[in-house]
Amino acid sequence: MFVSPTASQAAKIARNVCRIATFLAPAILWLACLQRSLSQTQQTGPGKFQIDSQRLQSTLEKLSEFGKNPEGGVTRLGFSETELAAREYVIRLMKQAGLQVRVDPAGNIFGLRPGSDKLPTLLFGSHIDSVLHGGNFDGALGSLGAIEVIRALNDRGVKTRHPLEVVIWTNEEGNHFGLTTLGSGVAAGQLGPEILDRKDDQGLTLADWLRRYGQDPARLTDARIPPGTLAAFVELHIEQGPNLEENKIPIGVVQGIVGLKRWMCVASGFANHAGTTPMNRRKDALAAASREVLAVRDVVRAEPGRQVGTVGFVKVEPGAVNVIPGRAEFPVELRDLDTAVIDRMWQRIQEKFKAIDQEENVQTTCTPLDDAEPASADPVVKNAIYAAAKSLGFATMDLPSGAVQDAQKMAKIAPMGMIFVPSRGGISHSPKEFTSWPDAANGVEVLYGAILVLDAQLNPR
Ligand SMILES: [Zn+2]
Repeated sequence: MFVSPTASQAAKIARNVCRIATFLAPAILWLACLQRSLSQTQQTGPGKFQIDSQRLQSTLEKLSEFGKNPEGGVTRLGFSETELAAREYVIRLMKQAGLQVRVDPAGNIFGLRPGSDKLPTLLFGSHIDSVLHGGNFDGALGSLGAIEVIRALNDRGVKTRHPLEVVIWTNEEGNHFGLTTLGSGVAAGQLGPEILDRKDDQGLTLADWLRRYGQDPARLTDARIPPGTLAAFVELHIEQGPNLEENKIPIGVVQGIVGLKRWMCVASGFANHAGTTPMNRRKDALAAASREVLAVRDVVRAEPGRQVGTVGFVKVEPGAVNVIPGRAEFPVELRDLDTAVIDRMWQRIQEKFKAIDQEENVQTTCTPLDDAEPASADPVVKNAIYAAAKSLGFATMDLPSGAVQDAQKMAKIAPMGMIFVPSRGGISHSPKEFTSWPDAANGVEVLYGAILVLDAQLNPR
């Protein structure tokens, strides 16, 4: 059932007035326009919520059967038989929702709902792969939430000007092939054929897996989304941190996705007899590395802000009870929304390492490992999320995403925004990962509203 001609004519007039208004007096009238575009959706359905939270819950519960672990949660690695089966389930759901489904050469699944006008696409979705012993919400909520938005629009007969497309990105977690955000990275043009020969721990190449997924690896670069194709990309995701729950705020508006830099450091000393080498003649690599691990923490804690720094492990050689460690290898990872902050911290860490090396009589060298630029959320997309949340009476909180996201890649080619919902205990990548059903539904409802605000606002006639 579609909205009556009178209502659609009224909507058209309202949009035109809004466009002129936006041009003339942005601050006041723009807000009025948001109210208008949201109230249009609310007039069409009973009650406050447009989405069906029961239906959302049942599809999420069904998805969590794929790769279910006895201790709870799932293991559904990207490029695995389990994920392949889950993808088929999701494709079925998309088709049931009337979406035109296609799979690109990187294995990304797209489901299109045409718009009334010839306009760039509004893309939204997430991923359905998990880490080893992961949870039921990371990626799954944003993926099935996107499909629920389409179903709710269908139920209410809401037409959009922009084509809407749901996307399920391939291998976001990157457990296979060590490449996080693989599908979105290819789509954004940041990964290419050079990744095809990478082997997983069973010796299968990425090209082999793409063939299993029904794709032709030689066409990988056809998965690139040309700039200008997308009006915006929106992703709903669990926070994976404690901020929303601690502050009792239902909706997080992501300001950006933090950048990260990683280095591998090796402290080189001298392996010698633990019984006969006097304390003042030692070159103990582990003693130096231990102080360096703490130096990383001290530097990161030294200034206010949300920056984080981690040393994830130390590998010590020779690793014997009666030998002074001669070599200690450890990674340093720094994350922040601002690359300048990361660079400044790294500068200080290196100075501290130098001083420690001198005192401990060892030499530490660090080489860059990995580098991901921060990505800012687009102001227009953020405003659409604020407006949608406000119309539902939800308080919002501005947050960075400390985790890597597909949206980070999309920010390269489209205006990007992310909606966060609370994670119980701030726990994620764990069977204990949990978001309450009402919180999950709230996020999907805000996604629904934000998509309609963007549809009304972007690309005015
Ligand atoms: Zn995720």
